[in-house]
Amino acid sequence: MSRTSECWFENCRIPAENRLPKASGLRAPLSCLSPARAGIAWGVIGAAIGCYETALAYAKSREQFGRPIAGFQLVQEKLVWMLQEITKAQLLALRLTRMMAAGPVRPAQISLAKRNNAWMALECARKARDILGAAGITDRYSVIRHLMNLETVYTYEGTNDIHTLIVGHDITGIDAFGG
Ligand SMILES: Cc1cc2nc3c(=O)[nH]c(=O)nc-3n(C[C@H](O)[C@H](O)[C@H](O)COP(=O)(O)OP(=O)(O)OC[C@H]3O[C@@H](n4cnc5c(N)ncnc54)[C@H](O)[C@@H]3O)c2cc1C
Repeated sequence: MSRTSECWFENCRIPAENRLPKASGLRAPLSCLSPARAGIAWGVIGAAIGCYETALAYAKSREQFGRPIAGFQLVQEKLVWMLQEITKAQLLALRLTRMMAAGPVRPAQISLAKRNNAWMALECARKARDILGAAGITDRYSVIRHLMNLETVYTYEGTNDIHTLIVGHDITGIDAFGG
């Protein structure tokens, strides 16, 4: 569980020795966001693979209408979608990581990877939960745990919408954040 709360600071006097070394503004603490978001782009792939493997094994063992549910076209479509999107997310994360190793990247490039991969993993978890039927909402399988966690990953380190606006600003040059 996550104890989520709001905090604010008013009329605070901070001792000079508590300042971040070499920091001159908000940019310094915010600089941790880029590598964290790139890490998320990788981490969620693991959760998605866990959901895919659980759903595949379940679909091959669960029988309905006299055959394994893996033999139904609608179930196969979900499994194929998961495999396809996991593979694309891996390539996106790999490309981003290689670009980061070669030199600085633009924040929008990291936003694109965080936005896509968190969304992809959440969709995989939802499809896996669906394939597991009612068993998917029990904690006997890891899928519902991944699903709840991925709902939060979709929001933290920049919500999906905010990353949309970051990429939108980058490609159009127009700020759509409001204010
Ligand atoms: C499990 C968990 C762990 C977290 N860990 C940390 C942490 O370690 N450190 C930390 O600092 N924070 C942490 N957070 C906070 C997280 O980063 C924020 O919840 C997130 O940035 C969204 O802020 P908010 O909840 O205030 O939502 P809001 O900013 O109120 O957003 C609500 C909705 O409005 C949308 N929205 C907001 N502004 C706009 C806009 N201009 N245009 C369009 N849509 C908009 C958002 O996309 C979202 O859909 C954590 C959150 C969770 C759930």
